[in-house]
Amino acid sequence: MLNLILFGPPGSGKGTQAAKLVEKYNLLHISTGDLFRYEMKNDTELGLLAKKYMAEGNLVPDEVTIGMLKNKVNANPDVAGYILDGFPRNVVQAKALDEFLAEKGEEVTQLIALDVKDEEIISRILSRAVTSGRADDADETIVRSRIDVYKNETSPVFDYYAMFDKALMVNGMGSIDEIYGRLCKALDNNANEEE
Ligand code: AMP
Repeated sequence: MLNLILFGPPGSGKGTQAAKLVEKYNLLHISTGDLFRYEMKNDTELGLLAKKYMAEGNLVPDEVTIGMLKNKVNANPDVAGYILDGFPRNVVQAKALDEFLAEKGEEVTQLIALDVKDEEIISRILSRAVTSGRADDADETIVRSRIDVYKNETSPVFDYYAMFDKALMVNGMGSIDEIYGRLCKALDNNANEEE
């Protein structure tokens, strides 16, 4: 299986690139942010719980997030692999993911991080707000605190997978197609190395 973590700050293009990669590599795209928004839209208990954390740009508690991720993976066993987008968001989640995959005889194949400058991220998110309708995209203060959460809590996940030689940084600036080309190259190089 190809179990990929698409990593990077909010607004770095993970969702856009994941949508393109799933087609090429026949993977299931799992975005924990999308799963939470779906729950919120349907006014479920989980959605109500997540709402207040998301509105402030904070992380939803690990127990809830990890449980939701496991359910989604378990409900879709017949795929060639997964692209995780927005998960893991801290080292506790990363360790839980590794343990969960190991129980299935699987592991994270690769983490690829999209490197994008802060000011570019903020401008991308604020313009995305016009179409996304996401309250957490529209308010610059919330956007900045999401970036802080990324730096403080999420970026150590890169170092964690780097310890296992599984973390790769890709330039996330440029056009969608340019970035997609870089990601495909990184993935194909990785596949060749493993042969
Ligand atoms: P995203 O769509 O990935 O930007 O996520 C939007 C919001 O959902 C985040 O700001 C968090 O509040 C919540 N969220 C998404 N994924 C996670 C996660 N893995 N752990 C905790 N909270 C998450």
